[in-house]
Amino acid sequence: MTTASYRRIVLKLSGEALSGEQGFGIEPNVIQSIASQVKEIAELGVEVAIVVGGGNIWRGKVGSEMGMDRANADYMGMLATIMNALAFQDSLENFGIPTRVQTSIEMRQVAEPYIRRKAIRHLEKKRVVIFAAGTGNPYFSTDTTAALRAAEIEADVILMAKNNVDGVYTADPKFNKDAKKYDELSYMEVLNEGLGVMDSTASSLCMDNNIPLLVFSVTQEGNIKRAVLGEKIGTVIRRK
Ligand code: UDP
Repeated sequence: MTTASYRRIVLKLSGEALSGEQGFGIEPNVIQSIASQVKEIAELGVEVAIVVGGGNIWRGKVGSEMGMDRANADYMGMLATIMNALAFQDSLENFGIPTRVQTSIEMRQVAEPYIRRKAIRHLEKKRVVIFAAGTGNPYFSTDTTAALRAAEIEADVILMAKNNVDGVYTADPKFNKDAKKYDELSYMEVLNEGLGVMDSTASSLCMDNNIPLLVFSVTQEGNIKRAVLGEKIGTVIRRK
């Protein structure tokens, strides 16, 4: 009998992770592969909360670089995460996993508003909860959302699923073949060395609230389960 190392997790899925090779839009095969991996861990009894990004559709920063008002551009980014959340909910439900989407910006016709206690109740009833629309505030990221929600629901860990890299490296492995993968890091090292794991707001929030983070590749089938079973994959970041 396999036992999970965690009771409750936050899985951070970037928009890029849902778009697969093409890097844009939503790729049904990729979503299905990730949903089937989520099914595996839900069947282990792990309580699963998911924070979805939106970078496969729109990033606020890009809009503001084109001359848009930053807050407006960020709201568009938050709306993009809702589209991803609905797509992922659909895929999870096709696998028979009861799933609820909660949004930080109210959109009652399509999803529940974010209510912390209700989210926890869903998790206790073994429903997967997808948190969409980020924090609901411009100038933040969905990585920060993952840190915030993980603290609020008292998750044991954040699993940060990447689609093109299997952990944190000394340099970008795509461009530098001498780049070495870290097995473990502290949040202070991530912040001091400016390692591109997550933005500094998200790293600080994780550090201050003592939330460990595992960065790993979701492209390899079964990796979410490996992560949940505590196998040594990816890079672990914690407060030291
Ligand atoms: N965003 C925001 N506030 C939040 C979360 C997200 O304004 O709390 C916006 C921001 O414009 C961001 C976009 O939503 O660029 C998509 O989120 P993110 O870039 O974090 O997605 P990911 O990189 O994970 O795909």
